Amino acid sequence: METRKVDCTMKMFDIIDKKKNGGELTDGELAFFVRGITDGVIPDYQASALLMAICLRGMTDRETSVLTSEMARSGETLDLCALGIGEKSCDKHSTGGVGDKTTLIVAPAAAACGVRVVKMSGRGLGATGGTADKLESIPGFSCSLTTDRFVSLVKKNGVAVACQGDELAPADKLLYALRDVTATVDSIPLIASSVMCKKLASGAGSVVLDVKYGSGAFMKTKDDAEELARLMVNIGEENGKRMSVKVTDMSRPLGQAVGNILEVNEAVRVLRGEEQGELLELSVALTAEMIRLALGKNATSCEKEAREAIASGTAYTVFLDLIRSQEGDVTPLESGGYYPVAASEKFAFRAEKDGYFVSPDAGLTGKASIALGAGRVKKNDPVDPAAGILLCKKDGERVRAGEVTAEIFSSDKEKLREGAELMKKAFATARTK
Ligand code: URA
Repeated sequence: METRKVDCTMKMFDIIDKKKNGGELTDGELAFFVRGITDGVIPDYQASALLMAICLRGMTDRETSVLTSEMARSGETLDLCALGIGEKSCDKHSTGGVGDKTTLIVAPAAAACGVRVVKMSGRGLGATGGTADKLESIPGFSCSLTTDRFVSLVKKNGVAVACQGDELAPADKLLYALRDVTATVDSIPLIASSVMCKKLASGAGSVVLDVKYGSGAFMKTKDDAEELARLMVNIGEENGKRMSVKVTDMSRPLGQAVGNILEVNEAVRVLRGEEQGELLELSVALTAEMIRLALGKNATSCEKEAREAIASGTAYTVFLDLIRSQEGDVTPLESGGYYPVAASEKFAFRAEKDGYFVSPDAGLTGKASIALGAGRVKKNDPVDPAAGILLCKKDGERVRAGEVTAEIFSSDKEKLREGAELMKKAFATARTK
């Protein structure tokens, strides 16, 4: 991608003011903003003000598309064909949900079926966990890969997971962290540009998107999720990518675990064939789409292949290779176990009477996971790998009075107390719906 010339006489104040008043930013103004962020010459307070103005005033499709390409070219962009990965490459992205650990299953499953999975991933944003945080809760695992290493791992294992960083889409890394702590995440143009700039920079030939809606997602309504999906598909297609998108419900957490290492353990259960249900079904559907787009096969055979890759354990073998290759410790898994949940504080919820389990509200569960320490409150906060929530029952499952229905974990007594309060509300809200 060519670099656009930036007009140095522009002023951030004027750009913020224009957007505040509902104006349409020019290509030059958007380039100035992205370049300034990347070079560290625009202070956080001005960047945050513009992000808030965009949140409130929106952007035209043209502005979103220009912002996306500027963010993509803020760093290196990969030409996977020239690097020998090429046509069979596919990237997958979820706009973020509570308990959404599908990437941990889908990426190795698609690789096991012959797709070259180039997964550009993010850290946790708002109440939703990021794949990079989940994987890095595995002792030793690192998503900070140089471009050379990223490409060589995709060639070796069929899959690698890298974070947006200093080389690929650095503007997104900076804006992403600011948005997370300035209530400027839930904006259709900002989400579309953040997701799609990583996809343009990683150079994958095809992209499968999972756009979430509901209380645990950035998009609260299906209509908004469909609008976001449309925008991202257009940006991808304009840039020559094969695109596929699913719009899925996030009013209840996906699966039974929320929180970094807890989610890794749940993904391991699915990959070992120990779990059936909604998480497995969504993972199969997304894997099948990746195979269809990247390898050009028909939808029915793709679904069969995806299911078999998980059932036969080949996806799990690729998962172990992925973890080992990115310096993660697989010792607990090799002996058939799981990663230990090293939380000093723990609380169990019990059923008050006989009945049927109702899954908690996803939005409040996401907030509880942050309160417990699984996500960030401030931009550079560390995340607690062990913090989170484990639902011991599935939605609609029979429960007896006194039985444990959920457990919560933290490394801090006060955080555990806060998390427990929010989880109580999450259960109560779901029961009234
Ligand atoms: N995922 C991203 O990569 N960016 C967003 O803004 C939201 C979800």
